[in-house]
Amino acid sequence: MDDLEILSEYSLYLKEKKEEGKKVIGFIAHDNIPEELIDAAGFIPLRMIFAGNDDLMNASHDYLPPSTCAFAQSSIGLFSLKPSQFNFLDLLDYFIVSNHCVSDICASEIISKYFNIPRLNFYISYTKNDNSLKYFKLELIDLKQQLEKIRGSEIPSKDLRESILKYNKFKKRLLEINNLYMKGSKKLKIIQKALLFGPDFIQDLEQIIQEYKEKSPINQINSKDLVLTGCSIFINDYLIDLIEEAGGNVVFLDTWIGNHYSSQIIDDKLIDAKKDPLNLIIKRFHDNIYGDHSVPNYLEFKISQIEKIYHDYKLKTGKKLGVINHIIKFCDHISIMSAHLKNQLQEKGIRVLNLERDYSRANRGQLSTRIEAFMEML
Ligand code: SF4
Repeated sequence: MDDLEILSEYSLYLKEKKEEGKKVIGFIAHDNIPEELIDAAGFIPLRMIFAGNDDLMNASHDYLPPSTCAFAQSSIGLFSLKPSQFNFLDLLDYFIVSNHCVSDICASEIISKYFNIPRLNFYISYTKNDNSLKYFKLELIDLKQQLEKIRGSEIPSKDLRESILKYNKFKKRLLEINNLYMKGSKKLKIIQKALLFGPDFIQDLEQIIQEYKEKSPINQINSKDLVLTGCSIFINDYLIDLIEEAGGNVVFLDTWIGNHYSSQIIDDKLIDAKKDPLNLIIKRFHDNIYGDHSVPNYLEFKISQIEKIYHDYKLKTGKKLGVINHIIKFCDHISIMSAHLKNQLQEKGIRVLNLERDYSRANRGQLSTRIEAFMEML
């Protein structure tokens, strides 16, 4: 299934949900947005996981300078460039303005203000201590109240608990998919599609897992295997094709739509009818060590996690993994730590390519050359 098919299937899915009277709530694609609250309110969470191109980036320049990250530029372009295969975004009823980073806030505010999508606010503190957890709870209560106002009634705690269980199950399946040995481009498409359709895609995930467990012994693909860390590869991006054309295969996605998302599982044993389910979401925020927002010692966690993946994989397959650190141009979150990440991992004998790029087509040749050169070194 290619990107256009996924988008047109998703467009039909959203239209059906709208006909059922559901509201669609959009937000930019990073972690910490509590989809369970949106789901428990009876609404559809729509995560913006769409990559860009020259036209989409250029279409944002009336609103933000070109020195904004390419992903935020393109996310604005998705609304300003018409007609496009993203017309389903016209179905959005609300847009959450959150503060993962400056580009995220600016793009979300612009999308809400200039494309007339009413905004919902949800801010997350940049520290992690007792006070920031209390603040996080206030923000959760506030978001819950904003959603309750839209639906015209309270969200019962029971419904929120059920949504937490449903998303837990969904994330467990996604973790399994991320750990399966399959072609990286196929794995990426499955994960991208799952993140659009959410838990409605659980049965498909279970079927895929079953099929792959029955076949595909490890080492069957003759490739140079890689971990992709840093920024996600979003829908409609050609980067994974360039990696595969150069002889590489991404075996693990350590990104926002990969491990950062699917590792955020709340322990089922803690989901107790007597406890306030909002506290479970707070605990998850507290325990999250993989996201790049408000995680103390984030870089140290990241380095030791990649080291572990590298050694486990070598033990299992005898193969050495390379690491591609994908940096969307002007993404400060990822670029600011890239030199340190590379030095630390290379000192441990793990090869790293810091690959910075925007979405312009003109970059394709240069990116290919850099990836091919890296593959030669592995
Ligand atoms: S700067 Fe990075 S973290 Fe922020 S919106 Fe852009 S890609 Fe995401």
